[in-house]
Amino acid sequence: MTWALPTPEEQVLFLRNMQRLLSEGLFVASYKFALVHALADLAVLKGDDSGLPLELSTKDIAAKFVELYWRQSRPFPVGGQSSGLILQQNTGKQAAIIAKIAESQQEFGGSLFRLKQGSPDHWRDLVAEVDTVVRTMPLWKLQTVGNESLEFLYENVGKGTKITLKPGVSYCFRSFYELIRDLIEGAWVRFVQKLNANKLGNITDLGSFLFGNERACLDAYRPILMDVQKGTCLYCQKSLTQQSQVDHFIPWSRFPADLGHNFVLAHDKCNNAKSDFLAAERHLEGWLDRNREHKDELQERLVASALPCDLYASIQVAKWMYQQTEKSNGQVWVMEKVLKHLDPAWAKCFAA
Ligand SMILES: [Zn+2]
Repeated sequence: MTWALPTPEEQVLFLRNMQRLLSEGLFVASYKFALVHALADLAVLKGDDSGLPLELSTKDIAAKFVELYWRQSRPFPVGGQSSGLILQQNTGKQAAIIAKIAESQQEFGGSLFRLKQGSPDHWRDLVAEVDTVVRTMPLWKLQTVGNESLEFLYENVGKGTKITLKPGVSYCFRSFYELIRDLIEGAWVRFVQKLNANKLGNITDLGSFLFGNERACLDAYRPILMDVQKGTCLYCQKSLTQQSQVDHFIPWSRFPADLGHNFVLAHDKCNNAKSDFLAAERHLEGWLDRNREHKDELQERLVASALPCDLYASIQVAKWMYQQTEKSNGQVWVMEKVLKHLDPAWAKCFAA
């Protein structure tokens, strides 16, 4: 079966609808932001660029909810100190999902990966509870905008444990992921800021608390990466005697996920020069080779150190990012200040 890809007009309409959803949707809890965010993430992880409809289980959506709310359910530090303040995410009493996640955090400490790995039963129960909330609260209300229905993402069937993204929706989420994510996160920060205004005063760094990454934790990856890269920089292959940095191969700013296999060790200089660019084909090849050659060792050591990792997801994200960069005729980083357009031959790296 062949599906027509969404026309440019349809793609613009999708973006207009998304803007409308975020600005006119009546949000009493931040669930709707989490839901759109989850759909966009799942389109990247499970969808493709065929324009086909995409079926998603509410369980997968719920698992994404837990990931998104995990860091947001920690106590918010006021004045650099832990205050015990859990940010309010609902206009009434605290959002049920936050309360459930905060409980799990107390039991398992801060690491979601540790919970998933170490207590699969607890993880399953938590996702099941969140799934129930997703199916009763935001799922069938998301596409109510003002006082009318704007059913552009999926059909509001009102029951069941699956939704099907309409033709072209997954395609658009994948094409405009960064734009949409910024829209959602910006609206989400403003929502939480407003709800907690009396407690937060003029704290301006709420965005990095809600969505930032944990820079400090990256050091734990260093010895593992040092071994699998045999003490050399992934980008220039020279020895890593000087200052090195743990770098997100697919930049965090493009897809914010701490996935162990996505990390590489590089010289400060190489890493800073690469900045938020995507790395050129030869680096992609080097990264894929490293992950292939050291597949078992990487997996074992990352898991043993309770560092988040998911090889399949890392590869899916990388493929998606290179596809999108090719489509937008984007540039990639070669070395130092050298940039070039991505060669369509990049896809061959994945075939090996
Ligand atoms: Zn280097």
